[in-house]
Amino acid sequence: METGLYTFGDAGTSRVTGATVSPETRLRHLVEEIELADQVGLDVFGLGEVNRGFYSVMRNFPNERIVLGAMACAEAQSALDMTVDYVKQRKAFGGVLWDKQAVRQRLADCQTRIEAGRQLVYHAASQDAAGHDCVKEVSMVKAYCGELVNSVLYDCVQFHGGMGYMRETPVERMSRDARVQAIGGGATEVMLEEVAKRM
Ligand SMILES: Cc1cc2nc3c(=O)[nH]c(=O)nc-3n(C[C@H](O)[C@H](O)[C@H](O)COP(=O)(O)OP(=O)(O)OC[C@H]3O[C@@H](n4cnc5c(N)ncnc54)[C@H](O)[C@@H]3O)c2cc1C
Repeated sequence: METGLYTFGDAGTSRVTGATVSPETRLRHLVEEIELADQVGLDVFGLGEVNRGFYSVMRNFPNERIVLGAMACAEAQSALDMTVDYVKQRKAFGGVLWDKQAVRQRLADCQTRIEAGRQLVYHAASQDAAGHDCVKEVSMVKAYCGELVNSVLYDCVQFHGGMGYMRETPVERMSRDARVQAIGGGATEVMLEEVAKRM
C-alpha cells in the first residue's frame, strides 16, 4: 500500500480513486485509508520511534518557546502602538490623555518591558542557533513574555477606558487572546520550574 499524508483543505487527486476530488472527499478517503491500514495490521502511519514520541516533541520545545515569546512581544507592541495613538487624540479633563504624566509614564514602562522581552527572545534564539543547551533561557522567554503581554494588554485596555471594554475595539479582543500566552505551550509556573531546576 502506498503511504503518505494528504494536505487537508486542498482539492486534488484522491489516491484512493485517482480522480480530482474536493477537500471533504480527500479527508474522508484519508480516514478510510487509516481504518483499512488498521484492519490489516499495517503500521503505515507511525512517525519516529515507537514509545519515544515525547522525546521527539521535546526537541521542538526551544523553537516553540522562542516563537511564542516573539509572538507575545509582537502582540504587546501592536496593542501599545494602538494605545499611544488613542491617548494622543482622546481628550478628557481639558487635554489629551497623553499629557497626563501618569499615563505616558506607564506606557513608557510598557515599552521598556516589551524591549526587555524582545532582547531576551533574541538572546535565547542566538543561543539556540549556536547549538547551546538553552532550556533555561527559552523557558525564561516563555514565562516572561507570556506574562508581559497580559500586563501590557491590561494597561492598554485601561487607557482605552470604557472603549477598551467594548467588542468593537481591537484591544478588547487582544486582551482576551493574550490570556493563552501564559497557558498554552507551557504554563508560566511550569516554565519557571524549568528555570528553577537550573539555578
Ligand atoms: C488555545 C490553546 C492551544 C493549544 N495548543 C496546543 C497544541 O497545539 N499542542 C499541544 O500539545 N497543546 C496545546 N495546548 C495545551 C496547552 O499546552 C496546555 O493547556 C497547557 O500546557 C496547560 O496544561 P493544562 O491545560 O493541562 O493545565 P493543567 O496542567 O491542568 O494546569 C492548570 C494550571 O495550573 C498551574 N500549574 C500547572 N502545573 C503546575 C506546576 N507544576 N506548578 C505550579 N502551577 C502549575 C498553571 O497555572 C496551569 O495553567 C493548547 C492550549 C490552548 C488553550
